[in-house]
Amino acid sequence: MLLRLTTRRLAARPRISPAVFTRPIFNLLLCKPEQANKSSSQPTLLLTQDDLFHPFSKSPFPPVRARGEAIQNLAPCPVCASSHEHDHAHTKAQPRLVKFECPECGWPTHCSEAHWKEDIEHQKYCRRLREANEDDHDLRSGRELHEFKLPEPQGYEETISFANWDVFWYTRGFSSMDTERSRRHASKLLTYPVTIGGALHQHSPLTSSNQRVTPEGSRSLAALRSTLHVEPGAPETEEAAVGKPQVRIFILGARAESSLPPHVWQQLCLLFPSTHFHLFFIGPQVSLPKPPGTVQNPIPETKSDPKVTRTSDAQNEPSYLPNVYQPPTPAAIERHKRTRSSIERYGVPSYTVPYTPQLTITGMQANYADVHAQFQHTLDPYSDLYFMFSPGFGFPSLESVDDSGQPLLQIASPTEWGPVLPMLLASKCSVFVTGFSPADVERDVRSLSLAPGVAGEFEWVITPGPNTFGSEKWEIADFDPRVMVKTNWGIWAIRGKSRDIQQKDKIFSLFS
Ligand SMILES: [Zn+2]
Ligand SMILES: [Zn+2]
Repeated sequence: MLLRLTTRRLAARPRISPAVFTRPIFNLLLCKPEQANKSSSQPTLLLTQDDLFHPFSKSPFPPVRARGEAIQNLAPCPVCASSHEHDHAHTKAQPRLVKFECPECGWPTHCSEAHWKEDIEHQKYCRRLREANEDDHDLRSGRELHEFKLPEPQGYEETISFANWDVFWYTRGFSSMDTERSRRHASKLLTYPVTIGGALHQHSPLTSSNQRVTPEGSRSLAALRSTLHVEPGAPETEEAAVGKPQVRIFILGARAESSLPPHVWQQLCLLFPSTHFHLFFIGPQVSLPKPPGTVQNPIPETKSDPKVTRTSDAQNEPSYLPNVYQPPTPAAIERHKRTRSSIERYGVPSYTVPYTPQLTITGMQANYADVHAQFQHTLDPYSDLYFMFSPGFGFPSLESVDDSGQPLLQIASPTEWGPVLPMLLASKCSVFVTGFSPADVERDVRSLSLAPGVAGEFEWVITPGPNTFGSEKWEIADFDPRVMVKTNWGIWAIRGKSRDIQQKDKIFSLFS
């Protein structure tokens, strides 16, 4: 019910990505606690655990108050809106905006107390809204956020389980996630790297026996795993990386994920000790580093050092940017000691950081179609793959219309994904896609059959369905707090139809 509502509401909007919701929180939670508080004389602990609920307008934190104001300027009262729909339009005024804060959840939800009382539907949302309110205050509470302490490299003999978040955390050596709230925080931080790791790893929960991997998909995944892992029985060590090709992951249309600090992405590498990764964030809204001369923190000595990034403290947090329409480009990221401009190499605004021997990150602020030619001839389905987090294929284009003046879907738009997917399919590399709700996944999958150069040109690798490593936190839309989605809720994958890859079957059969 809720998810159906989500579809309708989101479908009526230009693309909205939950990715953008996450950015300010990443900044907030990745600071050192002492840094967050150094400019004030307040004690480290600002809120106790029994004092996490505050109506937005009365929150002790300016960014929360600013968000409340943003919602009050955007969201229509649902009671006004429904009477507006049912009565003759000319006899009714436009729905009024939400001004009244529900005393139970603290969100501005209705135009008035009278309409709040009248609305029995609100009970469906109130508990989740309350939870989100408390989560947000918890992140700012100043308590020690043990759930963001990321573990060291895995012991060679210790197998990681990918059955669900809980066993993943346990077998991967995270400190215990003893509350639902900790789980929500940690899953939101880690959903991007662990979604990739969970799909690619030989112990992936996506298998042919649960029908998530097709026979064609098994071959593609086996090819990738032949590079990601070692031969059965051999120790999976850093030394085993010698002679193996680098695994390149092209993350297209990247936004919030491009502003995640490298030590969070390093967690992906630690799942594959014998692999060298090169991550490419490519998209018009990729976050680029701050100008030279602004190195804030040296590369940490230990790979799991959580004390990385960010210069501004909570008091200097920019005013709240509402999560509507085209999500904004994330703020500039920290510049590491080894960050270098790559504009001469790629011809677009870009940077490269050789973060550790196992991980290199490149970010390019460009449309993928404009840089594909630089990779086209070296792409190899054994070592290269694409990931697209909530690409919004099935959303109407903001820029392009068809002959009758109707907006094209983004998957068919010449200025958005139109030229890109045929390029990816021609490469035969696997293309992994996530969506933020069942309806979002369905909308994107349906759009495949409408796109020239895509319909009939691909095979399934992973069938559409839930993603074990989606974020467990509800992301709430400022334009309507009844709209709630979860980052990376679902996942699927395709690759171009290929004769070549079938000729390689003999090789593939070694691994399947
Ligand atoms: Zn109203
Ligand atoms: Zn409420």
